[in-house]
Parts: sequence; C-alpha cells; structure tokens
Amino acid sequence: SMNRTRSAELYEEALKHIVGGVNSPSRSFKAVGGGAPVFMKQARGAHFWDADGNQYIDYLAAFGPIITGHAHPHITKAITSAAENGVLYGTPTELEIQLAKMLKDAIPSMDKVRFVNSGTEAVMTTIRVARAYTERSKIIKFAGCYHGHSDLVLVAAGSGPSTLGIPDSAGIPPSIAHEVITVPFNDLEALQEALEHWGDDVAAVMVEPIVGNFGMVMPKPGFLEGLCKLARANGSLVIYDEVITAFRFHYGSAQTYPGLLNHEAIQPDLTALGKIIGGGLPIGAYGGRKEIMEQVAPLGPAYQAGTMAGNPASIASGIACLEVLQTEGVYEEMERLAIKLADGLQASAQRHGIPLMINRISGAFSTHFCSHPVTNYEEAQDTDGEAFAAFFRHMLDQGILLAASKYEAWFLTTAHQAADIDQTLAAAEEAFRRMAAQA
Ligand code: PMP
Repeated sequence: SMNRTRSAELYEEALKHIVGGVNSPSRSFKAVGGGAPVFMKQARGAHFWDADGNQYIDYLAAFGPIITGHAHPHITKAITSAAENGVLYGTPTELEIQLAKMLKDAIPSMDKVRFVNSGTEAVMTTIRVARAYTERSKIIKFAGCYHGHSDLVLVAAGSGPSTLGIPDSAGIPPSIAHEVITVPFNDLEALQEALEHWGDDVAAVMVEPIVGNFGMVMPKPGFLEGLCKLARANGSLVIYDEVITAFRFHYGSAQTYPGLLNHEAIQPDLTALGKIIGGGLPIGAYGGRKEIMEQVAPLGPAYQAGTMAGNPASIASGIACLEVLQTEGVYEEMERLAIKLADGLQASAQRHGIPLMINRISGAFSTHFCSHPVTNYEEAQDTDGEAFAAFFRHMLDQGILLAASKYEAWFLTTAHQAADIDQTLAAAEEAFRRMAAQA
C-alpha cells in the first residue's frame, strides 16, 4: 500500500498544535476508521500531490468550491492581480457590484445581495433578517440538512456532525435549541403539522432545496412547491441554503435548475450562498426580496457587518470562476463524465455483489452502500458505514481522493478528463474486488 510516512509525521506534529490536527472536523479520518489524514502539498486541475509525493485524483473539490479544478489559470490570474492591487480596503469597490450583478442575473429571486465570508455567516444572517422582518423567532429546518456551524442550525445537522456521531453540538443553550424545529426532508405532512403546531411563532422554513449533506438528494416532485405554499400561508419566509447547490448543477441555482419544474412556485424569499461563488477563496453571500433585505443595516434595524466582507481577492476570484462557468458546454461535460463514472461504479459494485445506490444530479453524486433509495436523512443513516470506510481506504491507496464521510458527494470539475474517469473506475473495480474477497 501507498507510503504516507510524511503525512503521518505531519499529523503527529499538527496534533500538538491544532485541535484534532485539523482546521475543520470533516478533514479528519474519524468517520473512516481514524488515523492520519492525507496532508496535501500541491494541487493542479483535477490532481493533488501529498507531502510524500503521491499523486491523487480529486473528487473532494474542497467540499464543493473547486468546480473549475485547482489553480485554474483564469482564476489564478484574477487573484494575483487583485493581490498586487491590495487585498483589503475597508471601502467599497467596483468589483463587488459586478459580482452582485452576476449573482442576481443567475438567481432572479435576489433583488439585493450582501457579501460575507462563509456559508455559515450567510445562513446565520438570513435567519436574523427573517426574524427581523417577520418579528417571529422560530425556524423550521429539515433533519440532516447542514447549514453551517452557527448555534441555531446545528441542531440535527447532516454531514459534519453526523459523520462524527454528534447529533447536536455541546455548547448550544437549550433556550436556543428550543427555537428550532426539525422535520424530515421530503415530508410535507410533517412540515404541515409543525407549522400548524407552532403557527405564528415560525419566522422561516429553511431548506437545502437539493440536499448535499446526507448525500445528494432531490426534492420529491411537489415538495418545494408545497413547502413554499405552506410556509407562506403561515406568514413564514422561505430560506434556501444554496451554499452547495448554486452553480453546481448548471449556471444558476436550484431555483432555476431544469431538473426541477415549476420554477415560479419554488422561489424563496431569501437565499444563502457560498463555496463556488468565491472560486476557492473565502466567501459567502445572502440575498432576497428587496423589502426583506432592506431590514439590513445601514438601511434597516438588522445588524450584520464584516471586516473582510467583499474583499477584492475573494470577489475577483469569484467573478473569474463564474466567467469560466459561463463557457459553453462546461456543465454538459461534467455531467457526461459523472454519468460515465456513476454508471461504471454501479456496474462494478454489482459485479462483486456489493449493494450500492448512487444519487447523481448533474456533475455530482453520492454513493450509498445500501439497497434502498435515499430520499431523506433516516435512509442515508441506514447505510453501511463500514463498507464506505473500506471503499474509501482502498480508493485512497490507489490515489483516488474522496471525502472521508459516507454522507458527502463526489464532485466532478471542469478539469477532470476521460482518463481520470477510467483510472478511477479501474481503482473502484479493485476496491470492490478486495471488499468482496474480505466479506
Ligand atoms: N450550508 C451548506 C448547505 C453547506 O454545505 C455548508 C458547508 N458544507 C455551509 C452552509 C457552511 O458553509 P461554510 O463552511 O462556508 O461556513
């Protein structure tokens, strides 16, 4: 198996100085049997090189943002020239207007935008704005949807915490946890019951319109329409967390995704963004209907601010990334490769008698070691984590990097080539062969 001595040494060293050796828990290998995570040193296109010099094909895409592959020349140039002109001003700049317009053009439900520094911040602020606008306090969210690590939405939050087996987080006062109600995804009856029970306490219904945090899960036909209708009938706002989904499946968000019908009936009041819109540099954004967004300071009474918000480097990187994504055919090509990869994985697992369900949406998919469909969090939990861990390790040893969690997606990028897919499928065939031999 692959030599990762240097990674192991760096992990020992990191553990002395950085809590858990990682700066985000999902980077640890805790969910796949523990041990040293791989310390990467360099990345280009769809490939990584680790501290020992091993090469990998990347399907992590940094948990989503790296949709153009690493060090894309157009984005690198934009970041370099931004750096040469000064990275932080504390004043407005013209570029911020350009990115705001690009987001508005692609996501028509956003009349006004505000930039922040992370998806967590974006979501957190949509909640404040919804509460300010409705003068209500409670939020309804869906089990397994992850909305960042702010207090309120960390209750029953998918990928990160569930990977580590932490249903909620320590350090969240019960008084705050009482402000959030959790219902199963794709279950309109449960939503209706919750809305009836909590009535005019409910400021907003928050959802990942296409889920990315307990696998990739599509809303059932009518789910988002029903959600919007029920929420509005109750005087509650609809907040879409599109931190993963915006610009992932097509040039736009779930709100305009051709795979979802009835676009007028599924428009949210507020949207939270992050990841891809910064081209790999830290960013978040939120936006929505004018009269709601005008609650935000300096226009209105809801306060939100940020020293780093809208910094020239993140904004330039985001604009450059969206420009690459405007290139004719890029999403079609990512989808074509994702189909080839997902179909190949499915066939390979089947040859070795290993149950595998794949949820693919455009150029992204999740692999679930089970024989039942995965349409909600419960079904995603009820899958074979040990089989995933074994698969993950066999793939890693053959130079294929996946997220170290059974809940996370595989992401294609514009940098992946047919040869990468072939190499990945050959590795998967060997991984399934080893798993079948051990069973
Ligand atoms: N919302 C969703 C849907 C996410 O997937 C994430 C991150 N995985 C976040 C919010 C939080 O974003 P960040 O990590 O940038 O704070």
